[in-house]
Amino acid sequence: MIRFNNFKKRYSLFEGEINGVVKRVFKSGWFILGQEGGKFEENFAKFLGAKYAIGVNSGTDALFLALKVLGIGEGDEVLTVANTATPTVSAIRMAGALPVFVDIGEDFNIDPELIEKKITRRTKAILPVHLYGQPAEMDKILKIAKKYNLKLIEDCAQATGAEFKGKKVGTFGDIGCFSFYPTKNLGAFGDAGALATNNKKLALALRQLRNYGEISKYENLLEGVNSRLDEMQAALLSWGLKKLPAWNKRRETLAKIYLKELSGLPVTLPAVYAARKNVWHLFVVRAKGRNGLKKYLLKKGIETAIHYPKPIFKQPAYRFLNYNDKDLPKTTAVMEGILSLPLYPELTEKEVLGICSAVKDFYGKR
Ligand SMILES: *Cc1c(COP(=O)(O)O)cnc(C)c1O
Repeated sequence: MIRFNNFKKRYSLFEGEINGVVKRVFKSGWFILGQEGGKFEENFAKFLGAKYAIGVNSGTDALFLALKVLGIGEGDEVLTVANTATPTVSAIRMAGALPVFVDIGEDFNIDPELIEKKITRRTKAILPVHLYGQPAEMDKILKIAKKYNLKLIEDCAQATGAEFKGKKVGTFGDIGCFSFYPTKNLGAFGDAGALATNNKKLALALRQLRNYGEISKYENLLEGVNSRLDEMQAALLSWGLKKLPAWNKRRETLAKIYLKELSGLPVTLPAVYAARKNVWHLFVVRAKGRNGLKKYLLKKGIETAIHYPKPIFKQPAYRFLNYNDKDLPKTTAVMEGILSLPLYPELTEKEVLGICSAVKDFYGKR
């Protein structure tokens, strides 16, 4: 059986190292807002090439706090996409703002050419998602944000380490938001997230906001929340951050096998762009007869997934947003064929080749 994710395998590979980190934190006797958190923030900022990183509880909270610290809330509109993880939209709603969906391009990301048409007097921010690890077209998006004086918040939950024209995603706009949910390229052993910014004032305010709004003990300058990154996760993330370049490289190696082996089949492969470094969070193809292929692969012991089965506006919780398929034709069209094949550093070449053979068998091409 090839699982879609396999965390037991990672633990078995690094049991000694991981246990060592856990023991260090237990022995320190300090679990919230201490040295480990500070060290991870420093390491992570350095990795990104950002001035500041702020650890929080989750990627959703990172997005919510980014909107909040930029003063975006009730009555404001935020431009984003409908083919994303629901939390992108939950965070906008948590802030009290309204998501406005823009259709997507061949890269599955927000289409910069369609953004301007959606800008109204209420638009306050653009929130591109670097979906599946593929960076969005940041130069064009940045230009529009500047032209209309809009805030730019990047949802980098699936793209830790990805680059656009040699620059890490999360460092283009006002704030970059990251998730360390276990399945993500840099995964914690539980929930965790972070924000990145080059703005000192925003960084200071975010440090307050995540900790009840305290500027110092029992002094509340801002109305905050509890969204701290705990010491255990921070220590484990510092450990994982050292592995991340190799893990992302491994994902790329495996993705290249898929790209080579699956060419010439009735599947559309992910687009590859010279100016973008994809970190291959997911390997998503658009397959003819997708549902049949998914069933066939499962019968052969290969788990796959669909990211995502429907656009957010079709979820019962978000019907009130009042969108229909015609508003976002490309978003709606791609959803019928998308299929995510297993891709994570612990997969072997042999397993990936096995998956490719099974896909070829399905299409009778072997
Ligand atoms: C995972 C994810 C999030 C949410 O992150 P959590 O840490 O689970 O809160 C937000 N946006 C996208 C695109 C994601 O993939």
